[in-house]
Amino acid sequence: MSHKELSQYQETLNLIIEYAENLGYKESDYVTLLSPDRELSVSLPVSMDDGTIKVFHGYRIQDNGIRGPYKGGIRYHPEVDAEEVRDLALLMSLKCSVANIPYGGAKGGITVDPRQLSKDELERLTRKYAEKIFPVIGLDIDIPAPDVNTNPEIMGWFSDEYAKLVGRRVPGIVTGKPIELGGSYGRTEATGRGVTTVTHLYSQRLDLVPSETKVVIQGTGNVGLVTAQLLADLGYQIIGLSNISGAVYNPDGFDVSELNINNGDQKNYDILLDQENSEVYPDDEFLEMECDILIPAALGNQIRGNNADRIKAKIIVEAANAPVTATAEKILLEKDVKILPDILANSGGVICSYFEWVQNLQYFNWTEEEVNEKLVAQITKAFEEVVSVQSEQKGTYRQAAMSIAVDRLIQANRAKGKF
Ligand code: NAD
Repeated sequence: MSHKELSQYQETLNLIIEYAENLGYKESDYVTLLSPDRELSVSLPVSMDDGTIKVFHGYRIQDNGIRGPYKGGIRYHPEVDAEEVRDLALLMSLKCSVANIPYGGAKGGITVDPRQLSKDELERLTRKYAEKIFPVIGLDIDIPAPDVNTNPEIMGWFSDEYAKLVGRRVPGIVTGKPIELGGSYGRTEATGRGVTTVTHLYSQRLDLVPSETKVVIQGTGNVGLVTAQLLADLGYQIIGLSNISGAVYNPDGFDVSELNINNGDQKNYDILLDQENSEVYPDDEFLEMECDILIPAALGNQIRGNNADRIKAKIIVEAANAPVTATAEKILLEKDVKILPDILANSGGVICSYFEWVQNLQYFNWTEEEVNEKLVAQITKAFEEVVSVQSEQKGTYRQAAMSIAVDRLIQANRAKGKF
């Protein structure tokens, strides 16, 4: 599904150079931001249910650790490769920096279509991955988390395999775990809650009235579904939703309270389609639907040079990582479309992962209200900082967020002294 133009990673590196130089920094200040600290590539032999052995391939890439332990999710997807994981790891360094949490950036992934595996095979694959990346992770070294096609159950298997390897339970080795294993209340909803918070804060700045504001969301997974439900609770009209099963349009706005993450994509799609006035929408035109706010919450590279000029939304909130390519962004900016960048908009997940880790380190649980309150406060602060830098610089929100992130990373480098 991804139609890559230029390397997203190279584009992000170019932006880092541009923003660092705009901030008056020299090459020696930012050069360490331009290559990952460490890259691990592993082969993963797994006994399949039919008795054969299949070898999968996995990665863990640690981008930059100057501000704290590495942090980043694990993605299971057939298109995972080193380049994608490298780019996502870099985005994590920037995201943790914008959110101002004491983490560096990392990412992991396995090249696999998890839908082709049985649950037992998926568990064996996850355990093998934990074993193979074991030498580079640790409670205060690198803390994985869920990403596309990975969930709390998978994090539970991962943490159990780690416990076997070290001979004791270490709850903080991974975040996004089940509550029973030390997971945090509010973590599952955290990314969607963060996306909702920045979307609503921005709408308020523009004096948009929620009940008159039409929202289209791509993806009904963890992020898309929670965002749809929380925005609907605030009164926004969710008129378009899509997932891997197809796209649906409803001019009256969906009743998204009927959706449930445990249903899976097909059932949620069927529920949407069954609602009064719902109709099937062509998949390849979905993102071009007339609306006020478009929230891509599925995968990267969705809004590209070849469809950007047909986008009708006035605001794009990047809930997914890197859904808008650099080429598309230039086209959209000419049309005065406002883009809230991923490193701000979807940082709720890593902020809450950080809270989970802090609770694990203290062997203490916060209530769901405490977690949500702290999350909203942290992402609101990040939003206000980005908006304030944007109004000073008169550039884009991405430029503002990147400037803040790059500045903090360079300041940390300087504070540490010579390499
Ligand atoms: P998920 O696996 O729970 O859901 C992904 C959704 O995208 C599913 O509904 C799937 O059907 C849909 N999808 C896949 N291909 C599609 C297509 N071609 N057209 C329409 N829909 C399609 O994943 P998630 O956790 O919700 O993550 C979504 C995005 O948000 C990813 O880019 C991820 O990196 C990013 N993100 C997730 C988190 C998190 O905490 N989960 C945090 C930050 C960023």
